[in-house]
Amino acid sequence: MNTFQDLGLNDDLLQAITDLGFTKPSEVQDKAIPILLESEKDLVALAQTGTGKTAAFGFPMLQKIDIASRTTQGLILSPTRELCLQITNEMKLYGKYCKGLNVVAVYGGASITDQAREIKRGAQIIVATPGRMKDMISRRLVDITKIQYSVLDEADEMLNMGFKEDITDILSHTPEEKNTWLFSATMPREVSIIAKKFMKNPQEITVGNKNESTNNVSHEYYLVNSRDRYQALKRLSDANPDIFSVIFCRTKRDTQKVAENLIEDGYSAGALHGDLSQNQRDMVMKSFRNQQIQMLVATDVAARGIDVDDITHVINYQLPDEPEIYTHRSGRTGRAGKTGISMVIVSKSEVRKIKSIERIINQKFEKKEIPDGADICEVQLMSLANKIHNTEINHEIDKHLTSINELFADTDKDELIKKFFSVEFTRFYNYYNKSKNLNIAEGSFDSGRDGGRDYGGKSDSTRYFINVGSKDGFDWMKLKDFLKEVLELGRDDVFKVEVKDSFSFFNTENALKEKVLAFFTDFKHEGRFVNVEESQNRGGGGGKRRNDRRGGGKREGRSGGRRDDRKGGSGNRSDRRRGEGTSKPRRSDGNSNANRSRRSDSDSRPAVARRSRR
Ligand code: ADP
Ligand code: MG
Repeated sequence: MNTFQDLGLNDDLLQAITDLGFTKPSEVQDKAIPILLESEKDLVALAQTGTGKTAAFGFPMLQKIDIASRTTQGLILSPTRELCLQITNEMKLYGKYCKGLNVVAVYGGASITDQAREIKRGAQIIVATPGRMKDMISRRLVDITKIQYSVLDEADEMLNMGFKEDITDILSHTPEEKNTWLFSATMPREVSIIAKKFMKNPQEITVGNKNESTNNVSHEYYLVNSRDRYQALKRLSDANPDIFSVIFCRTKRDTQKVAENLIEDGYSAGALHGDLSQNQRDMVMKSFRNQQIQMLVATDVAARGIDVDDITHVINYQLPDEPEIYTHRSGRTGRAGKTGISMVIVSKSEVRKIKSIERIINQKFEKKEIPDGADICEVQLMSLANKIHNTEINHEIDKHLTSINELFADTDKDELIKKFFSVEFTRFYNYYNKSKNLNIAEGSFDSGRDGGRDYGGKSDSTRYFINVGSKDGFDWMKLKDFLKEVLELGRDDVFKVEVKDSFSFFNTENALKEKVLAFFTDFKHEGRFVNVEESQNRGGGGGKRRNDRRGGGKREGRSGGRRDDRKGGSGNRSDRRRGEGTSKPRRSDGNSNANRSRRSDSDSRPAVARRSRR
């Protein structure tokens, strides 16, 4: 391995290198620096993050430009403002003994006139983000017609972020005979297209495996009905107990909603999107980095800077509008030599998007099935067994051992194991026991719709009496909207709504009964207590009246959404309801999973039932 002297760097640079404490060149520096110093060639260099790419192009550029001149000779393009500032800073450190050197950072979100003024003073090197650079050019605030060396840093990232046109535009203002040095962690097709287009016979160097991170990611898709998206997400997570994932949604609103639902359902999740304050985002990111959060639900824009290693799964809750964005998403996993899985939940209308993504990533997707309840129970059980097997014994227990042993004196080992595991397992079992198959066949109809056409009339739904009616300004539609809103239920969760003068009826799945009854134990609407009880009116479903629920709803504080709190089983839901005084209870279809999805389409219309209460 060479020393920095061997590479042919001048004394000013060597002095700075000593100051920086760099003792020997990194591999990419060792390979790139001699080529760039000795020849006037274009270069493509592939190396992972953290391998020292900045110095690999920075030292040669500093040595080759004419510092006595005030003309702009070097242009470095980088994807983000943070990187732009970081590179500028590094370049200044490397060039600290190069007298008269002026490196200027050009990026969005800061004053363009200040940046223009700095450039006017004579910047030999400009480090820029593509968007702001293009702006500067079109406003004629910068002259890049004398550029000799241009660097595309993190080229794959820039293309992922949709800067292709900006880059093309910027480079068209630079002279033909300049040299272009492209640095990238991966070499997707888009990058090679750019390389072909703008570079002449580039020399190529690779540190580590080419395309390493793309090859480390496998791509899977799951075909479900749109309405089952959230259930599918939960199953994918439950089937991977050690999941550490980023979940991408299309909008800030969906991002927030999915995160809230997950937290409410006992998962350790957090939201990351632009409507959060910087402070909130920092906190979420910190928890995620510490792996206190297992599922980070994020928008594309907010997740751009995420450089967390060890992410096991990327889940595309919804596909991005632009297929190109997909590469950026899936690149969050499979980093630093690890393998990762990128999962896509799609509905039938989106399947063709998979094809266009396949063309872009140059890789095939595997169509997989959402695991069924039995699979998940098995995975969870075995994961628990492994956890117990690997658990270090806490000897604080020793002193209680006699009493425990007494209690289990007549229990044999098999029975004890079964009982022990049942503590956790029964929750999962109950939850998934009657869960339906969420998968739909390609080319089939949206079967979830008509699976339970007259479902509301079956005994799996509960009919309620509510003491508001048309006198209170409700018609069936308004009442349905009102109930959906206060209970935070989905489109089809309230059905067979029947409004009378001073009272009304409606149905929900049995699984929601506890939630509905508990919620209305002390709920006021326009100053008046709204009373809901189970109805004996069979108009839409069976069930006995249960006065005992009235006033008896549990009102416990909300769980923190930590993984340990995770229950997933039915019967725990009220424990997770938000406490009094906080906002409305969250929609939490945790235990209504199997039933909700069998809802009939006709439920969005009221049934014309003529029977009145009692
Ligand atoms: P990359 O662009 O490949 O992600 P950077 O250029 O940002 O990597 O370098 C990563 C870190 O390594 C920086 O803090 C940089 O100062 C340091 N570094 C670069 N080259 C060397 C070297 N030869 N010896 C020690 N540290 C180095
Ligand atoms: Mg870099």
